[in-house]
Amino acid sequence: MTSESDLYRENQQLRRKLRAFLSQARENEQKMRRFQEQELRLISTPSLSELVQRVLYNYRTAFGLDVVSLTLHDPGYEIQRILEEEGVRLDDFDNLHFLADTDVLDGLYGVSLEARLGPFRTTEHHGLFPPTVEPSSVALLPLVRYGELIGSLNLGSRDPERFVAGSATDFLQRLATIVAICLENAANHERLKRVGLTDSLTGVNNRRFFDQRLGEEVARAGRSGEPLACLFLDIDRFKGINDRYGHRVGDRVLSTVAGLIREQLRSTDVLGRYGGEEFAALLVNARKEKALEIAERIRAAIEAYRFELDEADSALFATISIGVSSLPPAERGDVAAEALVDRADQALYQAKNSGRNRVVAAEEPRASASVTPLASDSRSHTG
Ligand code: GH3
Ligand code: MG
Ligand code: MG
Repeated sequence: MTSESDLYRENQQLRRKLRAFLSQARENEQKMRRFQEQELRLISTPSLSELVQRVLYNYRTAFGLDVVSLTLHDPGYEIQRILEEEGVRLDDFDNLHFLADTDVLDGLYGVSLEARLGPFRTTEHHGLFPPTVEPSSVALLPLVRYGELIGSLNLGSRDPERFVAGSATDFLQRLATIVAICLENAANHERLKRVGLTDSLTGVNNRRFFDQRLGEEVARAGRSGEPLACLFLDIDRFKGINDRYGHRVGDRVLSTVAGLIREQLRSTDVLGRYGGEEFAALLVNARKEKALEIAERIRAAIEAYRFELDEADSALFATISIGVSSLPPAERGDVAAEALVDRADQALYQAKNSGRNRVVAAEEPRASASVTPLASDSRSHTG
């Protein structure tokens, strides 16, 4: 038989439990609201750099964490390049790491790809957090897109009880999913922007991009006094290649030639497909002699290249003509940019007329032209 006092005690216990549940529910609701607010902010973030900064700093403050870091798999340096182009100085971030392969991430998550909660262990976790902060407990969240690990979001707290193995991870898993999707979206958005400036056949920049960079580079050379050179390149008798082997082979030659030119340039140089089988390049901080040397290397590389054809043991050879011009150090402005390109084009014309498969240097404009760019020096503009 249950006595009245037993019933009373049971009742009291149930009430306590109910209060605990209610307070837990309220806490969860608040937590969810905080998460949702952060999610909305992430989803509406326009650029990759802002996204990364929001993840790294907003979460830390919003959830009272001691450290948040991000480890991203970036084999082709693509994300790093995008961030740098957006003005981020990667060296300033000690909580943002990039990995060229997935060994470290695979080691952390194995095949299960589940969140890892528990104490911070120096041997396993040291590379994930900045060396200046040593958390007591950590939550490591795998960032997964289409079944592939693309990175890890690492949360750390000085409170050893904050993240304990076995506790519920629904909120955290959801957070990781959103971050992974947002990262992918932002990167895709950047890729799309780039496509608009890239020629799809050859993979090099298109004329729109080249023209934009031409203005920037001429202005920069004007400010710094560094030299700038321009190459104009045109494949010789390319029409004949199309006529003889078909345009598909022609396309392949075009794309290979673009690659051969790119190989001789530095990453800071600008290469664009200017027209059909014409390319233009800006050689940053290169004097005329250097530019002539590089042009000659390009010419020789293309002449020596065996373009394999589909039939076994058959190949074709192609040559290219190149005009080279340079920007006198004191020149600047649109007039200078136009003259730089015109002179290279004119030199290319001479290379064609004097037999093709050669490099020709443009005549330098007279010194006075750099002082008064509008001076009517016919040679500086028409070669
Ligand atoms: P030159 O030595 O004087 O430069 O002779 P060329 O035959 O190279 O010059 P021309 O300007 O007469 O011909 C260029 C050819 O390039 C004509 C055009 O059909 C071809 N072409 C332009 N764009 C493409 C392309 O994207 N793919 C292919 N396969 N051919 C192209
Ligand atoms: Mg042409
Ligand atoms: Mg041609």
